[in-house]
Amino acid sequence: PVDLAGRIANLLGAKHAPAVVHAVSGVDLDVQAGEVIGIVGESGCGKSTLGRIVAGINPPSAGTVHYQGQPVHSLPRAERRAYELGVQMIFQNPMASLNPRMRVLDIIGEAPVVHGLVRKADQRAYVADLMRQVGLDPDYAQRYPHQFSGGQRQRIGIARALALKPRAIVCDEAVAALDVSIQAQVLNLFTQLRREFELTYLFISHNLGVVGHIADRVVIMYLGRVVEVAPTDTVFTRPNHPYTQALLAELPTLDTTRRAYQPIQGELPSPLAPPSGCAFHPRCPQALPRCSSERPALKTLAPGHTSACHLNDLPQPITVHAKAVPA
Ligand code: SF4
Ligand code: MG
Repeated sequence: PVDLAGRIANLLGAKHAPAVVHAVSGVDLDVQAGEVIGIVGESGCGKSTLGRIVAGINPPSAGTVHYQGQPVHSLPRAERRAYELGVQMIFQNPMASLNPRMRVLDIIGEAPVVHGLVRKADQRAYVADLMRQVGLDPDYAQRYPHQFSGGQRQRIGIARALALKPRAIVCDEAVAALDVSIQAQVLNLFTQLRREFELTYLFISHNLGVVGHIADRVVIMYLGRVVEVAPTDTVFTRPNHPYTQALLAELPTLDTTRRAYQPIQGELPSPLAPPSGCAFHPRCPQALPRCSSERPALKTLAPGHTSACHLNDLPQPITVHAKAVPA
């Protein structure tokens, strides 16, 4: 279970006003409308659970999801529905999430009619427009999901999400099942749609490289906890947490200036019985004696950069800038 020590809030704040995601395990994220937050971790780290909580699919096990200052669970019905429509979700396996017996026209166009966003008479034109926007030929609206390729199916899933005019989209491993060349195309589509629709994304992936292509900010999770939050550039140039450094070591790079970090060692422990202290300690090449008993708190290292590691409590090297004064 994800430890929502505080609150996840207000992904759907007023347009252009900062929307706020509060406190995932004690961290507050101020999300600007249109920002992309990447959530990275191995499977079982709780990132999917977090996404489902934000999308209103699962209730949080602890803590609350707030929308415009109010806990979602206590919102009046209509506002709660507005919240749930406002955050759409795109999944890894488009085949599993698309009804095989429905035509694309209905897959994309049914919900907006049901929710009164579009009149039945305008459904065809509405769907055709969306299909064009995601790079599908509108002439294929009468076809069934199995008549499309994997990449095209993911585009159908994206159009279905966009049809509900969301403010935010949670993408859970949305390109993981696609070939690498198709991944790049779909990532480009996400980037383009983000600009056109002023979307906020929560982009969940086990692949730091994929997230690096799309996210403005990255949240690194390990066994249900946030271990580091940083702007994407910082994650790649100055990662602080040894787990983040290990994830980086696994990425192929042609950049010879990038510092070499140790790749991750050992097996991922069961999320049901995480190790004591810092949950990463059995796999950490830099573990200190206290790491097995004391859980490190998230500490702010620089504006927008937090990390939970005891190494940050060690005395830092002091750089002295002094001029020799002639006697
Ligand atoms: Fe490694 Fe200790 Fe830092 Fe955990 S707290 S990442 S075990 S050094
Ligand atoms: Mg998952």
